[in-house]
Amino acid sequence: MSTMPVLALHGGAGTIRRDLMTAERKAAYHAGLRAALEAGHAILRDGGTALDAVTATVMALEDDPLFNAGRGAVYTSDGTHEMDAAIMSGTDRACGAVAGICGPRHPVLAARAVMETTGHVLLTGEGARRFCREAGLEHADPSWFATPERRASLEAEMARRASGIPDDGDDARRHGTVGAVALDIHGHLAAATSTGGMTAKKPGRVGDSPIFGAGTWADDRTCAISATGHGEIFIRHAVAHEIDARMRLAGQSLATAAHDVVAEIAPFGGSGGLVAIDAKGNVALPFNCSGMYRAWTGPDGRIHTAIYSDED
Ligand code: ASP
Repeated sequence: MSTMPVLALHGGAGTIRRDLMTAERKAAYHAGLRAALEAGHAILRDGGTALDAVTATVMALEDDPLFNAGRGAVYTSDGTHEMDAAIMSGTDRACGAVAGICGPRHPVLAARAVMETTGHVLLTGEGARRFCREAGLEHADPSWFATPERRASLEAEMARRASGIPDDGDDARRHGTVGAVALDIHGHLAAATSTGGMTAKKPGRVGDSPIFGAGTWADDRTCAISATGHGEIFIRHAVAHEIDARMRLAGQSLATAAHDVVAEIAPFGGSGGLVAIDAKGNVALPFNCSGMYRAWTGPDGRIHTAIYSDED
């Protein structure tokens, strides 16, 4: 069986304020999104697996300091980095994740190593860090992950909290995440997500990204999903699994299920969005906020990148 390969990615969603977006910055985002999509798409085009494609795509985004994962991860309220990552195969629901780690240059590779070598699904804290060292993953100093922009966001958020000034609604500065979903020529789906979480989160806080069924999901019968947004709400609504369930049990299309669920969580404070692909290669990219950094391949194989509407 040979299916047309499809890939979609996100680099975070939120109230991405146009007044804070310079032409230069916007061009840099589009270039970063395109480069990451090309990294994964080259693998799919050569007959590689969806799992390898989402891994390569997320690795590229983790290395790009514009996005909140790996290099450029946001800070906890203690001024540290705690990263979460997950990967899932639609073939057999194999999955692996790490939470609260700082060390591996590519947290998605740590998630993949958990999936492929441990028999467990999710490792956290010191045990996860030890596992990553023993797995021989490339490590980076804390200075690799640090960027002045994220430090400034932490300081601004801490100052805002201290002074009681209401939030300015620019949640793109507060959070973000990266993720990818793919369908390979063999008809298999996969998803991967990686994040620094939310700026000034409590140390120890874990978001939706490494929680299967919330921020990450893949099942060849239905769809692959990677989400981004206010993680607590995505967990409470089991967003990714809810979409899977509506497709599998209620016969809904990916577009209907994904758009409805993303719209339904908005009133609960679930600002965000997701990228999803179904088993036929249909793509859904819903978000309930002003923008979502995203890229995807169209039915003609052409690469599209967008931040706000599909043309911008
Ligand atoms: N969902 C991530 C988290 O809650 C953050 C984000 O995607 O913006 O950790």
